[in-house]
Amino acid sequence: MTRAGRDVVNFGVGEPDFDTPAHIVDAAKRALDQGQTRYSAVGGLPELREAIALRYQRRYGIRTTSANVMVSVGGKHVLFNLAMALLDAGERVLIPTPYWLSYPAQVHLAGGVPIFLETTQAQHFKVRPEALDAALTKHRPVYLILNSPANPTGMAYARDELEAIFEVMRRHPDVLIVWDAIYERLVYDGFCHVEPGQVAPDLAARTVITSGFSKTYAMTGWRLGYAIAPTELIEALTIVQGHSTSNATTFAQVGGLAALSLSEETTADMVAVFDKRRLRMVELLNAIDGVDCLKPMGAFYVFPDIRAFIGRHTPNGTRINSDVDLAEYLLEDAGVAVLPGSVFGGPGHLRLSFALANEDIERGLPRMAAALAKVV
Ligand code: PLP
Repeated sequence: MTRAGRDVVNFGVGEPDFDTPAHIVDAAKRALDQGQTRYSAVGGLPELREAIALRYQRRYGIRTTSANVMVSVGGKHVLFNLAMALLDAGERVLIPTPYWLSYPAQVHLAGGVPIFLETTQAQHFKVRPEALDAALTKHRPVYLILNSPANPTGMAYARDELEAIFEVMRRHPDVLIVWDAIYERLVYDGFCHVEPGQVAPDLAARTVITSGFSKTYAMTGWRLGYAIAPTELIEALTIVQGHSTSNATTFAQVGGLAALSLSEETTADMVAVFDKRRLRMVELLNAIDGVDCLKPMGAFYVFPDIRAFIGRHTPNGTRINSDVDLAEYLLEDAGVAVLPGSVFGGPGHLRLSFALANEDIERGLPRMAAALAKVV
């Protein structure tokens, strides 16, 4: 539609609208000039693995060495390697809903079976310990995936909530915990991001952390992420990676090393911008009759409940049967692109990103409100 000349405000984006900091870009340029254009070790440059381990240890007080780290081509790649390394045909993975799209897809690609554990807005999209216990007992998955702060909901687990979850995990000693912390640095209202090792050090032998550089340092196109895990698991991941992609791009890894040397303020500036947009988005959305939007604790998405519009009709008489229909109507009527919650296993919701310019928010949301006001 944009190519056809239509003005579309795109709330679908999943990446920061900032440029990668110059310090990182310069380091990668220098690496190219200095001939760092060859294979690196499969699991990453030793100095980068070291720096990731050191940063993790300093930030969270959890003992971590470079032997616990593997660098991959993005957090997505880490999660794919995990599915390939851990799953035999037909084995299950427990995924709370709403989920990031790639979790179930990757499990399918590895021949496994995703099992969904439903959560609702009323429970702030967080897993309830009793429900988790029942699902683990019933389905006996190889691993559970937790994502905090989460895409698409923006919710995050506080320390006491994690304690309750890990208490359940202690009763299921064969199940691994995969903790996707890709948005760990994008948190608001003074929320303190908690890592599993801070709450349940006794479960470290079966916990895998996945994270990366994309969101924190506006490095989505660099394709750089990492796993932090027990050494046996790192070895298994390295074997999978060694037979598929080999190392992440060598000079991109040098950029990653430069990113880790940046001060916390670099990220804090970006977070402050996101924070303002977050509050504005929630304010504008909740002002629309029929929309109910939680304030996200982290990441850069809102996931409003729009169930009030289902069963109503657009101005030309078409019945809105689902969030998908509503998203289509908004695109056609208002030129506003949003994602239907159904694709994330969260029907009755829409996902809107606030990683876009303030002007777009101020232009797009009133257009969305006007279109929704016409739904009868
Ligand atoms: N995990 C979640 C929840 C995400 O939203 C994303 C990206 O959108 C990723 C992982 C992977 O990001 P990347 O592969 O760019 O590191």
